Amino acid sequence: MTELRFNELRGEVVDYAIHRQERTFLPARDHCPLDPTRAGAPVTEIPFPSFEIAVFDNRFPAFESPHGAAEVVVYTDDHDASFASLPARRAQALMWVWRQRYTELGARDDIQYVYIFENRGVEVGVTLHHPHGQIYGYPFLPPIAEREHEADVRLGGCAPCTLLARELADRTRVVHETASTVTYVPHAARWAYEAHVVLREHRASLLDCEAGELADLAAALQGLARGYDALFDRPFPYVMAVHQAPTGGGPAIAGAGHLHVEFYPPLRTAEKLKYLAGSEQGAGTFISDTLPEDSAALLRAAIARAPMRGEGGS
Ligand SMILES: [Zn+2]
Ligand SMILES: [Zn+2]
Ligand SMILES: [Zn+2]
Repeated sequence: MTELRFNELRGEVVDYAIHRQERTFLPARDHCPLDPTRAGAPVTEIPFPSFEIAVFDNRFPAFESPHGAAEVVVYTDDHDASFASLPARRAQALMWVWRQRYTELGARDDIQYVYIFENRGVEVGVTLHHPHGQIYGYPFLPPIAEREHEADVRLGGCAPCTLLARELADRTRVVHETASTVTYVPHAARWAYEAHVVLREHRASLLDCEAGELADLAAALQGLARGYDALFDRPFPYVMAVHQAPTGGGPAIAGAGHLHVEFYPPLRTAEKLKYLAGSEQGAGTFISDTLPEDSAALLRAAIARAPMRGEGGS
């Protein structure tokens, strides 16, 4: 059972999902619930001896039907892989899985907003190391989506389109490009190595993308993830947030949304974490020790030197 309460002072919903207190927390390597089920061993979440991509309902859901959804997306049966190290074709297949889940969850009446994301690394609270992401179907429009729509109104049109045009005109913060995507550190990034991967054409969601655009998106996301790992030569923690058009929310929000993927890495150096403290928590203002232009230069070099992997395989 989950309970939603409205926090008046913040103007936002808080979700109480107290059963999650009991969820599996960093199990031993040989008790990974996201591994395939091996002959003679106990059944894991995935009752097959091998698999490519698996999607199932989260056993410890933050939202559940008929008030939303929470799903787990396992990227591979290889426990020691990562999103960055997936073969290119697997990463492309993941884009199609995301698209299918967006369609199916978005069609539900109890879901207003489909949010695909990955938490990577204990620094952002990961409880299972096996490479996986999650999908939440929110029964309401969450605040970040609402604020992005406010940006559309403020800028007099699609905010991601406007901001992309500015970044391409300036170029100092662009770190990677494909035929259909641009990756940049935003002009006013909040995290030291925050980066956004944006579709060049206005695409409200994965549903509006052509096959080539999905392939480019997969390549761009992997290119950035590999660049992150190369930046400090260590597995790089991040939150990866896929922002798309709301699937509900009524006419006020109709037409909002432009597919883009935001990465929030908590590291500000190889060793030091950025903590959300007094100013960030109590005043809502980020204080940064680094300039986006300098981070972009370092990230651009890291992406260029990161090993290319996964060409061809499945
Ligand atoms: Zn595993
Ligand atoms: Zn747009
Ligand atoms: Zn966004």
